Amino acid sequence: MKRILIIMAMEAEARPVIDQLGLAALPANQQLQSGFPRFRGEFEGKEIIISLNGKSREYGVDRIGTEYAALNTQSAIIEFAPDLIINAGTCGAFSADAEIADIITTDQPVVYHDHRVPLKGFSEFATGHHPAIYRPEYFQGVVHKLGVVTTGNSLDMPVVDRQVIQQNRGMAKEMECASVAAVASLYEIDFFPIKSVTDHIDIELNNVDQFLDNLNLASIKLSETLIQVLTNIK
Ligand code: SAH
Repeated sequence: MKRILIIMAMEAEARPVIDQLGLAALPANQQLQSGFPRFRGEFEGKEIIISLNGKSREYGVDRIGTEYAALNTQSAIIEFAPDLIINAGTCGAFSADAEIADIITTDQPVVYHDHRVPLKGFSEFATGHHPAIYRPEYFQGVVHKLGVVTTGNSLDMPVVDRQVIQQNRGMAKEMECASVAAVASLYEIDFFPIKSVTDHIDIELNNVDQFLDNLNLASIKLSETLIQVLTNIK
């Protein structure tokens, strides 16, 4: 049976799809310090594992960003040996590119926009360019956009990040995808992202307010999309 690992940063993003797929919580792995909440079940002849980044011990919030996404992905690969990895979550986008709750995936490598090292060789290393696969048949029946997914560790967008995002023709700005793609690539496992837009990164209203307003809507859209994509994967 094909085993699909879905890496998600925030519990609120994951809750609708965990409930709809009826996945069961797995016991915590005692070897992992402050573990990653994991849920498993079968859906349409596939084994599905959703693994969350977990909560910060100190601050109680979801451990968004690249460090825990990488730790989450590597430990889940070692434990479950998945055939395919999906990073599902929310993102910001320019208003000219996408509406709130639109679905974005990619047919291009995933990059970082806040990882600048202008030294020979290191510059390309820092940008990442981690591979992602695009199989149109997986997205049959899903209205989606194709664009560059660009990762950094901040929700805001200083001018320099914006310049890098525009140079790389970034469409989905988020905080985990490049690190998940990097780990998947290390283990030579097929990888692709599914992102739903929570905020427009180029309009006045700040992205924190937009994010909180739209998180629910985007998470429901994400759940519907994941279920369609998981159904399409043969
Ligand atoms: N304030 C929110 C946290 C949002 S952080 C809360 O308390 O719930 C942003 C999370 O959503 C990250 O996991 C990231 O991948 C994604 N995200 C959505 N919009 C983003 C944007 N404009 N920039 C960066 N990440 C974004």
